Amino acid sequence: MVYRLVIAPEQRQGETVTLNDAQCHYLQRVLRLSPGDEFVAMDGTGAAWLAQFADSQAQLVKILDEQTELPVAVTVAVALPKGNGFEEILRPCTELGVTAFQPLITERTLLKPSGNKQDRWQRIVTEAAEQSERQWVPSIAVPVGWVDLLTHVAPQPIIKLICVARSSSVPLGAYLRHISPTDYLPEPIIVATGPEGGWTPSEIDQAIASGFQPVSLGKRILRAITAPTVALAQIAAHYENLST
Ligand code: SAH
Repeated sequence: MVYRLVIAPEQRQGETVTLNDAQCHYLQRVLRLSPGDEFVAMDGTGAAWLAQFADSQAQLVKILDEQTELPVAVTVAVALPKGNGFEEILRPCTELGVTAFQPLITERTLLKPSGNKQDRWQRIVTEAAEQSERQWVPSIAVPVGWVDLLTHVAPQPIIKLICVARSSSVPLGAYLRHISPTDYLPEPIIVATGPEGGWTPSEIDQAIASGFQPVSLGKRILRAITAPTVALAQIAAHYENLST
């Protein structure tokens, strides 16, 4: 197995990467690489290189032509669950290919964001992206209110979905089947999930008025930390089948 490491653009000068202390520690002490051993360096925005470790530096040997990303850009807008629930969402959604996370504060959000969790969240998705052999490290936006998002979310063309439990909404899978298989540059998707207490009726109405399509993820009630992963798994399965 070849190990993967995300490097920041400023660490790279030509073919030489200056590693920071944490990265040196990881490569040397955790992975036990010796000088000359190879790993994959990624810039987190699509590029990857075969790299050779050399103490506090690495040499980029050749650019890798790898593509494990979804053929469609998907943002999950997630009402922040209570406790550390959001962290449990970050990892599986990253494994499934999410492009970006938009944390939300909704009327029934129990957790008010405490302090700056952004760095910790970004570390979790970076690690998950490395582990799942992606080229793209998902971005995590700063939390916003639901209504703020509705007023600022990009207009068409974008597919806007809101997952609503206990409703007679169209199942997500059935909705996706109507998206043309010939779309080789698919419209980006934003898919929103609510908090433990669900959306308020007015939040759902406002979403529909802003062009969101309500969708169902099945007859059972999923937990707030499960719903985003289930939605993303269905979206990934649909688009990957179309693109092969
Ligand atoms: N307490 C609410 C459910 C909240 S579940 C109730 O009893 O109705 C948390 C979020 O997960 C919901 O807001 C919704 O976005 C999503 N969700 C859970 N189960 C779902 C389902 N079967 N279909 C669509 N969305 C679902």
